[in-house]
Amino acid sequence: MKKDTQLLHAGRHPKDNYGIVNPPVYHASTVTFPTVDALYQADKNPTEGIFYGRMGTPTSRAFEEAVATLEGGDKAIAVQSGLAGITGAMLAFVKGGDHILVADSVYFPTKKFCNEFLSNFGVEVTYYDPMIADGIKSLIKDNTRLIFTEAPGSLTFEVQDIPAIAKAAHERDVLVMIDNTWSAGYYFNAFEHGCDVSIQAATKYIGGHSDIMMGTITLREEHYKMVKTKLNVLGYCAGPDDCYLAQRGLRSLPARLARHEENGLKMAAWLKERPEVTKVLHPAFADCPGHDIWKRDFTGSSGLFSIVLDGKYSPKAVAAMLDGLELFPMGYSWGGYESLIVPFNPKGARNVTTWVEDGACLRIHAGQESIDDLLVDLNSGFERLNKP
Ligand SMILES: *Cc1c(COP(=O)(O)O)cnc(C)c1O
Repeated sequence: MKKDTQLLHAGRHPKDNYGIVNPPVYHASTVTFPTVDALYQADKNPTEGIFYGRMGTPTSRAFEEAVATLEGGDKAIAVQSGLAGITGAMLAFVKGGDHILVADSVYFPTKKFCNEFLSNFGVEVTYYDPMIADGIKSLIKDNTRLIFTEAPGSLTFEVQDIPAIAKAAHERDVLVMIDNTWSAGYYFNAFEHGCDVSIQAATKYIGGHSDIMMGTITLREEHYKMVKTKLNVLGYCAGPDDCYLAQRGLRSLPARLARHEENGLKMAAWLKERPEVTKVLHPAFADCPGHDIWKRDFTGSSGLFSIVLDGKYSPKAVAAMLDGLELFPMGYSWGGYESLIVPFNPKGARNVTTWVEDGACLRIHAGQESIDDLLVDLNSGFERLNKP
């Protein structure tokens, strides 16, 4: 069956549940056992069975089954936030003395975790240019354990050549992880392109309504038990109501993404024609580094992209533009139904690449509003930019 059909059915078992369409929400810490023998039996296989709330409930397992279907992996693990997915996956695979390679354009808190935790635990971190492709070969050392990728990069949208990176990695027994949040696991099949672990902030498109915090780690069967066991030791888990909402979000993911994609493409095309805009960093547009790789490896685009304004505009003019927008409130996170905008400056967040643009950068999330209304609002923003 096609992915859209699978996504409507994955993780649901109405026959086991009075015919009710959606999985029930189990609120649970304690799971009781009638005999000593049953207790010991369950203790032998806690990563698969139902043993204790933190190890998973039928609610989290149902969601995880659906996410594995979405991402094309064997198993998924739900955790309490997207960042917990990143830190948990890395902590499960690395140990002191290992070396890891991390893209220079990753979500900034990923870097903070590497710099403020992993480095202190004796893990050596090297950042690499996201456009490196198979040039990554020269950075792989005998103790390199994993390469952490994110495509496209946070804020600046460089699309990495994941197949080339994965080929170089696998020749040296190095693991490839991806932060696959931008594609929602829907527009990019991480496993078919050589990734071993795919992480998402389900907070974003999977949840889709700006009302939950949730992360997912999707992986192959061979890694599942080890990672699940270690995450349990770390105390990572996801709450039942959030698992339920995230799974509900999955059912409408293809339909919502189609609308985000359409509005994102229309908005980016309109912005490209504006004289105030010098660059449109949207993977489907030629200005975006790695645009050709996006065309080759992705099946579509979500609603998140950035623009760079002409350097002649003062911070005051940019603030006048943004402060007066009605349909683009400023705020972090994205992937909900609504449009958002945030100013950012990549300069301080770079380790091995240099950000050369001098104009203000704006990240835009194209929501599901009518595109006509969104463009009217942006148009008034440009009027204020020019006459603050
Ligand atoms: C938001 C985000 C995260 C973190 O997710 P939280 O649920 O906010 O912890 C990780 N990676 C990317 C690319 C994100 O945009």
